[in-house]
Amino acid sequence: MTLRSSIAALSAAGLLAMPSAHALVIEFDYTYDTKGFFTDLETGAPIVERRSLLEEAASFYSGFTDSLSAIAPQAGDSWSVRITHPSLGPTVTLTDLTLAADTLRIYVGGSESAPGVLGFARLGSNLTASGSDEFVDAVTTRGQTNTTGVNATDYGTWGGSIWFNAANAWYFGSDPAGLTPGHPDFLTTAIHEIGHILGFGEADAWYARINDDGYFTGAHSVAAYGDPVPVDQYGAHWASGTMSTYAGLPQQTLMDPSTRSGTRELPTVLDYAGFADIGWQVSAVPEPQHAALFGLGALTVIAAARRRRKPA
Ligand SMILES: [Zn+2]
Repeated sequence: MTLRSSIAALSAAGLLAMPSAHALVIEFDYTYDTKGFFTDLETGAPIVERRSLLEEAASFYSGFTDSLSAIAPQAGDSWSVRITHPSLGPTVTLTDLTLAADTLRIYVGGSESAPGVLGFARLGSNLTASGSDEFVDAVTTRGQTNTTGVNATDYGTWGGSIWFNAANAWYFGSDPAGLTPGHPDFLTTAIHEIGHILGFGEADAWYARINDDGYFTGAHSVAAYGDPVPVDQYGAHWASGTMSTYAGLPQQTLMDPSTRSGTRELPTVLDYAGFADIGWQVSAVPEPQHAALFGLGALTVIAAARRRRKPA
């Protein structure tokens, strides 16, 4: 064996020994969008503007990496889970879904309800799995370790469902310049609800870090906030009005219980720290959307300037 090939063999062995982390993929499923929140019910066509905002919301979690097992039922394997119907129809039971590695699936929809509530996210219930140990492990923990109980340190889920309240006069835009009072920002709400599916206020690893005085003590969060962080009365959010920073500027946290209509909140340093404390590898904070928008604006200006220099 030459020196070169033995080094190659060693590094190949190293790669095999170290579990590699991959970017999280979030799939949205519109099967139960039966009240037309994301779908034109007359034509069956997607409402592209709303669906693309949902993809934009998911992109705020694209810097998360982990190694989640695929859920791929083989002969003798079976699983099922009940979900809240995302358009508030009868309870749905999903059976033997297949999910690629590092991928979560979220069923989405909306319907009209009393104004005031923006939406909610729900993990499934009555999860059952049978078959090989590996398969059951993939379904229940996605191959993560120590995900349950009062000492949990990690989190793994197949996904869940999100309902949006269609009675709101939503702002369905990407550009924050279009925000106006009285119109709740759909993008903000979508990022917030996806956060719950990712375990915020849901995972055992989240609740394991709330002390008897109602403060969240996860190491990343305490480092970001400077102290244990107050949580709301249910322990499901940061306390109302908890502040952190987004793109270096003060902003109310995204994962506190509410956002004033007509305002946009994006994941702050503290929000991302909370996700790191429940087991996500938040290795790269996604590029701020504002920066992308400014970049686009600058390109437009440059193109216009060049055009003007052309001889008439
Ligand atoms: Zn919430």
